[in-house]
This record gives sequence, structure tokens and C-alpha cells, in this order.
Amino acid sequence: MKYNELFESFSWEKVLKTFDWNVDEKFNMAHECCDRWAEDPLRVAIYWEDESGKTDVWTYMRLKEQSNRMANALRSLGVQKGDRVAGLLGKEMELIITVLATWKIGAVYVPMFTAFGPEAIRYRLENSGCKVLVTNQEQAVKITDLNLSTKILLKDGLTNTGQTFWEFIQSFSADHETEPTKVMDPCVIQYTSGSTGLPKGAVWAHKILVSSYPYVRYAIGVEDNDRFFGGADLGWAYGLINCTFVPLSYGVSILSYKGSFNVEKTYQLLEKYSITNFAYAPTAYRLMITYGAELIKKYKIKVRKFSSAGEPLNAEVVRFFRENFGREIYDHYGCTETGMIVDNFNVTDMKVKPGSMGLPSPGFNLALVDEDGNIVKKGDIGQIAVDTTAFPYFFLGYWQDDKKTKEKLRGKWLLTGDLASEDEEGYFWFEGRADDIISSAGYRIGPFEVESSLIEHPAVAEAAVVGKPDEAKGEIVKAFIVLTPTYEPSEILAKELSAFVKNKLSKHQYPREIEFVDDLPKTPSGKIQRFILKKQMQISS
Ligand code: ATP
Ligand code: MG
Repeated sequence: MKYNELFESFSWEKVLKTFDWNVDEKFNMAHECCDRWAEDPLRVAIYWEDESGKTDVWTYMRLKEQSNRMANALRSLGVQKGDRVAGLLGKEMELIITVLATWKIGAVYVPMFTAFGPEAIRYRLENSGCKVLVTNQEQAVKITDLNLSTKILLKDGLTNTGQTFWEFIQSFSADHETEPTKVMDPCVIQYTSGSTGLPKGAVWAHKILVSSYPYVRYAIGVEDNDRFFGGADLGWAYGLINCTFVPLSYGVSILSYKGSFNVEKTYQLLEKYSITNFAYAPTAYRLMITYGAELIKKYKIKVRKFSSAGEPLNAEVVRFFRENFGREIYDHYGCTETGMIVDNFNVTDMKVKPGSMGLPSPGFNLALVDEDGNIVKKGDIGQIAVDTTAFPYFFLGYWQDDKKTKEKLRGKWLLTGDLASEDEEGYFWFEGRADDIISSAGYRIGPFEVESSLIEHPAVAEAAVVGKPDEAKGEIVKAFIVLTPTYEPSEILAKELSAFVKNKLSKHQYPREIEFVDDLPKTPSGKIQRFILKKQMQISS
């Protein structure tokens, strides 16, 4: 398929027809992602495995039945349409059942990460006013003294009865009628990653499924008989929506692995489950290439399509994969508030340009704009913005924060805060977040290009580049570097790396200061938090 043809022939009307319910009348994520596939008793929704090797197989029928029971259980706990229910578990089936059940009663799901500390949990539970939290003992310890009104449902033993989650919900009926919600009713409050500060509670409508549906088919390239494995955690937008529920809305089988990312384990899983389509964050791919090409070749891997999302994917990683495994990695760009709006489409003939996030997604209207919302000249750098009047817009604003919501809008445009330029063929090239741009001696320097250049050096596993305040230049470029296992920090190596970038890029872009670190500060979703590095520099200077 040609990208141009896909773009031009695309119609949301056709997309709407693929759903079971008539979207104009009623629309519910749980119905489309689970119940409509449950008539076939053998259709597998989820292969589940954890770090200890425990496995389970879930058909759509079983998902439907258990989520119906949980929906009735939530009702018995007083949860009503519009109320909030939070989940704080790793990739557990109890969590997936909770999400479906929450939607089935028309309530709003609030995802959380198990890596969160007590304050992060309290902030989200209080801010969104959750009625129920589903978690386990290990997590519950973090919240015992928070004095919240939220009811806590423990997976491994309820406080009053000692029953497990499964025992508890078995006492409720397996019959439940899914709430006929409207397409613009809220379904999730997703807190942003917090890469730039305090996370904001983005409210999504059920429409997010409609808007993300073409992305999963055309960009990730999920086909009807695929076995899909998206490694991202359910605590963030990509893991919850694009790696779990949208693929399920196609009725395909997915792998859900509960465990931390590990290169060799990932290859074993790809082989064991005959995975045909795989998606993860760039940090995973960066790690894979530091393990070299030999390791992956030891496994029988049938993956046809590799996708990456959540952070810029460095050109070096794409080239390494291409040269060593003969496979492309398709970079995808999106935000919690907008969905996946610039992508490499792996079902089309478009060529992947290493370092570029690809072309606009069909059905969206995008532009590069300045601070006032005016479209910039072709070739110039601008903020990626999405037209809020175009059909796929599903963002209902930040939870109880009109001020923050308004700050994002310029006329009809929603600003993403990300800077990019467009080349002659319409490909988007990421510059960096507007907040991370370094201003040095009159030059504006995007950290991504410098980081990507550093990564091309064999000593560098990961790099984060920030502006360090400097009296003469305003800011100087400083790089924090994690070395690959065989290298040791030294003055000489630091000088070599500076010179390496100077030769590749330009005289004003190279890092004048290099600090070797064991790891970089990251959000639980794996994004580098440059603002923390900047803060640390202020404290230590
Ligand atoms: P916060 O808004 O709280 O600071 P965040 O913006 O990181 O956090 P998310 O909505 O999870 O929260 O992430 C979206 C951001 O991730 C984008 O705005 C962009 O900066 C970055 N991003 C995602 N995918 C890509 C990509 N393929 N290339 C470049 N940047 C990406
Ligand atoms: Mg953001």
C-alpha cells in the first residue's frame, strides 16, 4: 500500500463501521475490546506470563465473564457511572479485568505505576478522587497511613475477609449489561509522564479507541492473525491503549508479560510465543543493540514488525537493526493528549529515514506552529500542533484544571510542546521539547541531535544532553553519559567524546562538559527526565 493512497483514501466513516455498536448512538471500550469477540469460546485474548515462569491463557470469553463479575462487584462497592477507579499493579490479569469492569459500568479508570512512591500515589488518588483502588499487599504498604477515603481492594487477600481478588468476585453474577456510554463520555484519567514537571491528569473519552484504531493497523501493522507483544507498562498511555486494548479490539492474541525489561528474556518470549509483531520504548532497543547482534541471532524470532514509541528513536539504533538483523524499527510519535499523530507506517511502502518520526497519521490535521499558533514557513522549526476541530480529537482537558488546559490551546491548535521540522517529502524530524532546547551563544541547540551523535560512539550506551548555565554563553551543552559495559570513565574518554560530536555536528553543538553516570533519571515509562538533571546542576553549583 502506498502512504499517499492510504492518506488520501482514508475516511473515519469507514473506521466507524468496523465497530460493533453504532458509534453515533453508544460506544464503550469494554464492549469493543472484549465482549464482541467473546462468542468464539476458543479465541485467545491474552497469553500471560510472569518472571517466575507462571503462565495462564485467557480467552475473550473468560475475560468477558470475569470482567462482568468485577463490574457487579464494583457496583456493590458503590461505584457508579462517572466515578473513578484506580489500578496499582504490574501486568496482572486482575488489573486488566478491573479496567474492563470499570468501563462496563461507565466509570473512569485511573492508571498508576507500581514504581510510584507514596506521594505520587496519594497525589493521583486525591487529585482524581478515586472511590476504589485495586492493588496488592506490597503496594498497599505504601498507602496505609495516607488517610484516604478510597476503598482498597487487595488482589492477594481482602482486609476484612481474607479472600483473594478472584474469590471475592466469584460471589458476583457473571451477567452484566455494559453501560451504553456515549463516544465522548470519559473513560480514563491518564496522568502524563511528568517529563517536564508535575504530571497532569489528561481525561480521555471512549473515542480514544476510534482515534487509535487506524494507528494500530497501519503504523504498528497489527494483522488479524498476529501474535502481538507490546512491552510497555499499563501505567501509561502507550501500554494501556496501543499495546493492550486497541489490539484486543481487533480480536487478536497478545502477550502480557509481568516482569522488568531484560534483553535475553525478551528474545526468549518472542521465540516461545511465536510473536509476529513487537513494540517497545527506545530505551529497550538501545539496550538490545548494546548486547550485539549475536545474541538475537541465537533465537528463532518471527517478528515481522518492530515499533518504537515514547521518546525519539536514535538513527544509530535504526541503522544497527537494519544492518544486523535486516529489520526496520518503525518510530512512532504521540502524546497522552493527542494520540499517535506522526508515524512510520509499516504496512505502507514509505521508506524509513533513520532519525525521523515519519509522516502525519491519516485522518488527523497537523501543523508546525509558533508560540502564537501561526503556521511556520516550510522547513522552519515549529511546535507540533493538532487541530482540535478535526474528527479524531478525544481529549476532554486536564482533570479539574481549565487553566492548564487553556494554556495548551492556541485557537484551534493544541500545542504538544515538542519542536520539529518537516523535510521536502513531508517527514517530521524531532528537535526536542521546547523546554529542553539549549540556548548557547545565540545558537538554539536541540538535545536530541547531540544525544544521537554521542550514541554513535561505541562507548556510549545512553546520553542526556542539557543546557548548563554559563555567564559568557548563556548556556553550555553538557552531556550525562552512561557507558557500555566494557568502557571506564576517564578524562581522555570525555575529551574523545566531545571531539567526536564536534567532528560530526558542528563547533557550537558539541558538549563542553561531560559527566559519566551509572544511570539517567527516567519516568517509570522510561523517558529521560532532563529537568531533573538541570535541577541537580543548579543545586550543586
Ligand atoms: P509531561 O507532559 O508530564 O511532561 P510527557 O510529555 O513525557 O510528560 P507523555 O504524554 O507520556 O508525557 O509523552 C509524550 C511526549 O513524549 C511527547 O510530547 C514527546 O516529547 C515524547 N515522545 C513520544 N514519542 C516520541 C517520538 N517518537 N519521538 C520523539 N519524542 C517522542
Ligand atoms: Mg507532555
